[in-house]
Amino acid sequence: MNAPQVRSLLLTGILSFGLASLSFAKSKSSKSSPKPSAKPSATPAAKPSPTPAQDWQVVKVGPRDYLSVDDIAKFYGLIGNVDSTGKTVVLNNGRNMLQVTIDSREAIVNGIRNWFCFPVIAHENKFLVSRIDLAKTIEPQLRPQMIQRSGKVQTIVLDPGHGGFDKGAGSTFGNEKNYALDVARQLRPLLQAKGFKVVMTRETDVFIPLEVRARIANATKDSIFVSIHFNATNSNPSAAGFEIFSLTPRGAPSTNDDALALHFVNMQAGSPMEAQSFELAAAVYHSMLGHIQEFDRGIKRARFAVLRQTQIPSVLVEGGFLSETADSKQINDPAWRKQLAESLCTGIESYRALVEKKQRPMLVAEYRAQNAGEITVVDLMMPPAKLDASPAPAIIPVTNPETTATPDPNQEP
Ligand SMILES: [Zn+2]
Repeated sequence: MNAPQVRSLLLTGILSFGLASLSFAKSKSSKSSPKPSAKPSATPAAKPSPTPAQDWQVVKVGPRDYLSVDDIAKFYGLIGNVDSTGKTVVLNNGRNMLQVTIDSREAIVNGIRNWFCFPVIAHENKFLVSRIDLAKTIEPQLRPQMIQRSGKVQTIVLDPGHGGFDKGAGSTFGNEKNYALDVARQLRPLLQAKGFKVVMTRETDVFIPLEVRARIANATKDSIFVSIHFNATNSNPSAAGFEIFSLTPRGAPSTNDDALALHFVNMQAGSPMEAQSFELAAAVYHSMLGHIQEFDRGIKRARFAVLRQTQIPSVLVEGGFLSETADSKQINDPAWRKQLAESLCTGIESYRALVEKKQRPMLVAEYRAQNAGEITVVDLMMPPAKLDASPAPAIIPVTNPETTATPDPNQEP
C-alpha cells in the first residue's frame, strides 16, 4: 500500500469518526493545519504545496465552522456545475447528487429536498457549507453505509398521532387522529408480513400523553419509532405535500426556526440515536415520494417531544395537508392511505437492510423507475451540463414554497 492510499483511508476515518464531533472541529480549526494545501485556502496557517489538497480546510466564519463545496466535491468524488446566477451549484457523480444555493438552507440531496441547519454562504469566492450540515445531513445520505451499528431492527413502534379528545388537524371529511390510526392499522400487518414485530402506542381512539408514547418506545427492545401525522395550516390554503422530521442536532436551529435566531444556542441535548433517526427519515421519505406523487416539502428537523424523549431511532411522518383540498380528499380515501402505509413499510424495510446488511436504501428516482417498470428513469450518470440551458431534472422540484405548516400544538418542544 503506497502513501496516498494510506492517506485517503486515514481521511475516510477522520470524516466518519471526526466530523460528527464538534470538539474535533474546534481542535482542528484552532491549530494550524499540518497538511499541505494545493491552493491558497481560507485557513491562514495552511502553506501552499504541490500536493493536491485532499484535506478538509475548516473555515471559521463568525461562530461557525464551514467546509468548502470544493472540498466536499473532492471527498465524495462529485463533479460540480454552477448555474448562471452563480448562486446554485449542483454536484453529481451518477451515484450521489447534491445541490446547494448561497444564502439558502434549502438543498437537494439525491433528488430530495433537505433543510440545512444553517444557510450556505459565499466566502472568498467559495461556497461554504456549515460543518454541522456536512456531518449531520450530507454525510449520512451520501455514505449511508457508514451508519454505526445500532443493533437489530426487530420491532416497529407505530405511533398514530393524537386520539380521544385530541382530534389533531381536521378537514371537511375527517380528523387527523382517525386517519393516523387507520394508516397504523393498515401498516401493522404489512410490517408483520416482513418479519417485524409491531407495537402500537394506541390501538383505539384514546388520548395518550406524549411522554407515555416515548416511554412505550423506550421500553421496546431492538426497536424504531414511527409517529404518523397529517398536517394543516391556517396561513396558506394551498400548502400541500409530504414532510418528515427527525430530531434537531444539538446546537442547531430546527427547520421552522430562524437560523439566525439566538435561542438555539442553549445547546438543547441531542440524542445518541440522532444519526440513525436521520437515516431512518431519509429511507422512509425516499420511499414515500418514490411511491406517491406528492409535493416534496423535505426532510426536516424538529424537537418535538416524541423525537426528543425517545432513545431509539425515531421519525415523525406528515402524510399531507388536511387544510388543502386535493390532499384532504386523498387522505380521506382508504385505498390511498393503504398506499401510504405500503410506502412506509418499504421505507422501514430499507432502513433495516441498511442497519443489518449495510445495503444502501433505494432513492426516490429508483423507486419511480421500478414502479414505471423501467430500468432507469432519471439518468444520474449524466450531470446536467448547464443548469441555465436545461431544466432541472424532473426529480428536482424547482419551486421553494414558504414553510407555512404549523406544527401540532401538542408536539411542540
Ligand atoms: Zn399531528
